[in-house]
Amino acid sequence: MTIARLQHWLQRNRAWADRMQRDNPEHFTNLAEQHAPELLWIGCSDGRVTPDRMLDTPAGSIFVHRNLGNVFATNDLNCLAVLQYAVEMLKVPDIMVCGHYGCAGIRHALCHHGSTPVDLWTDQIRFAYERFHQDIDKIDNLDDRCNRMAEFNVMAQVFNIARNAVVRDSWEHGQQLTIHGVCYRLDEGRLFSVCESISNKQDLERIHKQGFSFKKDNYSAHS
Ligand SMILES: [Zn+2]
Repeated sequence: MTIARLQHWLQRNRAWADRMQRDNPEHFTNLAEQHAPELLWIGCSDGRVTPDRMLDTPAGSIFVHRNLGNVFATNDLNCLAVLQYAVEMLKVPDIMVCGHYGCAGIRHALCHHGSTPVDLWTDQIRFAYERFHQDIDKIDNLDDRCNRMAEFNVMAQVFNIARNAVVRDSWEHGQQLTIHGVCYRLDEGRLFSVCESISNKQDLERIHKQGFSFKKDNYSAHS
């Protein structure tokens, strides 16, 4: 049974590789020669939020990091290594944190506490909730509360990245690097900007003092 399952996936891969090769015989040899992505994507593991398809980019354009609830955890070696590699070695000019409406990770963070791995990971989202709870708590409906929290969570992760030493060093050395925050609507296939982008130390310091000029509740505004 296990082998049958593996055969199923290998056959799918074979059919895809053959199709790609047929459509463009150079496709794989070109890809194998270089890796020069233009964007570091930090998104949710949710299988419906797929950056290559959503941004309609050719393979190799995006360096991808995904986890439950699109968190940039400042104590997570995985997040930190991906960021360092993207900024110092690949020199990507853009980083995009992408949350999504209807995110199970966000809902878990707002509805559960405990010590399972999912609970502990989503603590990162709860930390963001604690900073913005006054805005979240006045929303009655749970779905709306989670959707608004998805936006605040993106903003918190954008800020976490901008404060990282690797990012600040790159600005210090004149490297062009901008961090963006967006949320994805599963039911429309559309991305929406949820906070201002951060491009330099001055942006970071201003936001640190004054807070983000945060876009007004995109999801409700758009519905
Ligand atoms: Zn999600």
